[in-house]
Amino acid sequence: MVNTFQFSLEPIDPSALRAALANPACGGYASFEGWVRDCNAGREVRRLEYEAFEALAVKEGERIIAEAIERFGIARAACVHRLGTLGIGELAVWVGASAPHRHEAFLACRYIIDAVKHRVPVWKKEHYREGDSGWVNCERCASEAPEMHGGTEAHAPPALAPAAPDYSRQSALREVGAAGQARLGASRALIVGCGGLGVPAMSYLAGAGIGRLGLVDADLLEASNLHRQPLYALRDCGRQKVELAAERLRALNPAVDVRTYPVRLDADNAAGLVADYDVIIECTDNIATKLALNDACIRAGKPAVFASVYQYEGQLQIVQPGGPCLRCLWPEAVRDGLVGNCAAAGVLGPVPGTLGTLQALEALKLLLDLPGQLTETLLIFDLLTLNISRIRTRRSPQCPRHALAGDRAPFAANESVELEFESLHEASAAGYLIVDIRERREQALRPVAEVPVHSIPMNELLHGGAALPPASKYLLVCAAGARSLAAAHELRARGRAPIFSLRGGLAALG
Ligand SMILES: [Zn+2]
Repeated sequence: MVNTFQFSLEPIDPSALRAALANPACGGYASFEGWVRDCNAGREVRRLEYEAFEALAVKEGERIIAEAIERFGIARAACVHRLGTLGIGELAVWVGASAPHRHEAFLACRYIIDAVKHRVPVWKKEHYREGDSGWVNCERCASEAPEMHGGTEAHAPPALAPAAPDYSRQSALREVGAAGQARLGASRALIVGCGGLGVPAMSYLAGAGIGRLGLVDADLLEASNLHRQPLYALRDCGRQKVELAAERLRALNPAVDVRTYPVRLDADNAAGLVADYDVIIECTDNIATKLALNDACIRAGKPAVFASVYQYEGQLQIVQPGGPCLRCLWPEAVRDGLVGNCAAAGVLGPVPGTLGTLQALEALKLLLDLPGQLTETLLIFDLLTLNISRIRTRRSPQCPRHALAGDRAPFAANESVELEFESLHEASAAGYLIVDIRERREQALRPVAEVPVHSIPMNELLHGGAALPPASKYLLVCAAGARSLAAAHELRARGRAPIFSLRGGLAALG
């Protein structure tokens, strides 16, 4: 009677069932007993009858037990449901789970009973004191009094949740289905940064029923965070973000195993943090953190979904094992602080909200192996104009990380794409045609007046067919040097050399 679902016409004996789940590796055991109550919906009940469509019900029950074992990593579980006629106080359904730790045992026990109540075809007929009787909707069985028993540690029974997680609206998708849902339940995602990007990413992944969600963030909640992090509450300012997020996510979906890491991810701890996860979602506004995670994910061979936001602009990129990485794209990693963060530059809440939501979407596509994944591409969103640019990313032969990972570069070294100048005068005097690829709005806010420049916003340059005027060499400039570098790489890949990028952008010129 281990790892099974059974029906019984005889009274259930919990002690024998409990003994069958004992295991020397287990420190926690939790069980649930549903008893026949003497009233329901205001009517006095004398006895009950249970009927089941047995073949189907046993199959579904065993599927639920298997899901609980896989999802919560428990050792053993079982469920017995009575059939036939039962008197008041009799044991109608019993669930038990044993696990290395109490937390998994409780979660698994709760998951099984909730899923059994909603998915297993069992019908209940109530016989009332007045002499009549009626078949009762299965789901109302969930209002039976619960009884939880702790194993090594006693625990107060949690308030009974109104329903088990219901993923029907996503598993109805042909590409997801029951198999995809089970796959999500067995998956583990690490969210690095619980702020404007992390909040929507973690909320959607928890709602989707991911098996384990790790949260990394050392910060305390501040009032200025709330306009872009609406998972939190004003009264919680000063508390640890990972703890607050974990509370909210467990309330959103108790089936998710939420783990918290109140630390700042760096080169020393990154490998340990990513080790237990299948996909990493990078949600910080810190370049050093992004690079440390980039390096750890390449070494561990794990995919990472990166996003960043600057004012109205967002960038989205996935680093896949063997594919181009952040260092391939930004060889001289943009110095921290040069690309403004939200504190310095200001941001509308829905901008990181949009990017964080896309991160959750891409993580789900990765885990479910859906088509249309973002590969070898940097997506740049201008959320003011709603322009989207797509830039092909390529493995750089100079990238030190791929060398470390033991890969061979796919093509030969080329000269540096990034150039440094003291001023645009200097560049112009050296014979470069200067192309300002910022959006027109940015150009209007901060025009370049010192030298004549050719103005072509990046999207028009790359996708609008805008032609560059004839020149022997070009210097692309943007606000901080990131877009111009990406655009220069793209144009070179299309055979448009010699095209260069101003390192650090206009910001570096002071
Ligand atoms: Zn690389």
